[in-house]
Amino acid sequence: MLQALILAASIAFTEADANFAWECASNLVERCTPRDAGTVRGKLAANWILDTATIHGADIRRDVFRAMTPLGERTMTNLYCEFESDPKADWVVVMSHFDTKPHTGCPGANDGASTTGLLMALARILSCSGIPKGNLMLLWTDGEECMYGYGPNDGFWGSNRAAEMFVRKGRNVRAAICLDMLGDRDLKVTVPANSDDTLARIAVHAARRAGLGARFVTRIREDMKDDHVAFAMRGWKAIDLIDFDYGSSPGRNDWWHTSSDTIDKVSVDSLLKSGRLVAEMLNLVL
Ligand SMILES: [Zn+2]
Repeated sequence: MLQALILAASIAFTEADANFAWECASNLVERCTPRDAGTVRGKLAANWILDTATIHGADIRRDVFRAMTPLGERTMTNLYCEFESDPKADWVVVMSHFDTKPHTGCPGANDGASTTGLLMALARILSCSGIPKGNLMLLWTDGEECMYGYGPNDGFWGSNRAAEMFVRKGRNVRAAICLDMLGDRDLKVTVPANSDDTLARIAVHAARRAGLGARFVTRIREDMKDDHVAFAMRGWKAIDLIDFDYGSSPGRNDWWHTSSDTIDKVSVDSLLKSGRLVAEMLNLVL
């Protein structure tokens, strides 16, 4: 009976979780900058995320793979944490990349680390409480960032690898939710046009239910190249939640992929709002 009650409970994201997410992001930046995919420091970042999440009770798996890049073959690492309550049910995937933009020295505090921390907080929450129902994978992707320009062998290595894993295992994905740049202290969450329409409506509804207001999430006309595309390409519903206005004044985006993407631009309050949005989306889609 008690277990039934626990299983039925909804997922909640608290201020303590937001603080934990920020600490994780801050530590990742401090210890592992840069963490370009296929480099020793990229591997160090994966190890640090795995070790830290494990200390906090999460059962994290590592998927090490070889990827062809413009600079030859490189070794990359995806991390994932599975919560499976029904082997026959579809899967929900929530993902964030943790790598930094190659050759820029960008610390990726908002672009990579912030949502990595958010996923680590979710892993900690769910490892204690379990999920209400269905199956969920939290996925930290390596190699989201391209080296020169997005193409068949440049960028999205981790998300393509993970999506291919779902195909190989014969698993169906009900919803793939990509989180990117959601720690910005001046947060404006957008849903790019190349996101699934139903999931976009769910995101707006979730924001309202989480008390963030219906305008917290805005749908935009532009497409976005991001990790959700690997899942959308394979016929699954996928959405990108991103704040792609990241700079010293609106529209400049001068903190993106530069040395200015530092942890002081990431706020606990934004991580709290993003975390509540994602938790509420999970309550709706699981
Ligand atoms: Zn980036």
